[in-house]
This record gives sequence, C-alpha cells and structure tokens, in this order.
Amino acid sequence: MITESKVYTCRKCQSNDLVKNGTNASGSSQYHCKTCGAYGVLEPKERSTEEKKELIIKVYQERSSYARD
Ligand SMILES: [Zn+2]
Repeated sequence: MITESKVYTCRKCQSNDLVKNGTNASGSSQYHCKTCGAYGVLEPKERSTEEKKELIIKVYQERSSYARD
C-alpha cells in the first residue's frame, strides 16, 4: 500500500491498489498494480507532454499559415 496523502491510480485499470516499485532510469517513481498487474510510472509528466503537444500544434499552424502566403 502507498500511504502518501496523494492518491495514485493505475493508468490501465484505474485501481488504487498499487505498490511502489522503485524508480526507473530517469528517476521517476514506478508502481506495480496489484489489480491488473501493470507496471508504470507513478507521476508521468502529463502536463509537460500536453504543453509540448500544444507547442507542436502552434508551430504547425504557424507553418501552414506561412505556406498559404
Ligand atoms: Zn491496474
């Protein structure tokens, strides 16, 4: 059981019955889901991924507007 105040959920089955499973090569905490048996990263950097995605879309849109001129 994870006894921190923050509740983590399995990214595959949304269960919160997780155990910590050390850290990966980049230092992110990992979990092992006791419900579905999945292994994953406890706190994936989703926000930065979203920001990056927005940036890519923005760049793409800027490029396509240049291409139209
Ligand atoms: Zn799971």
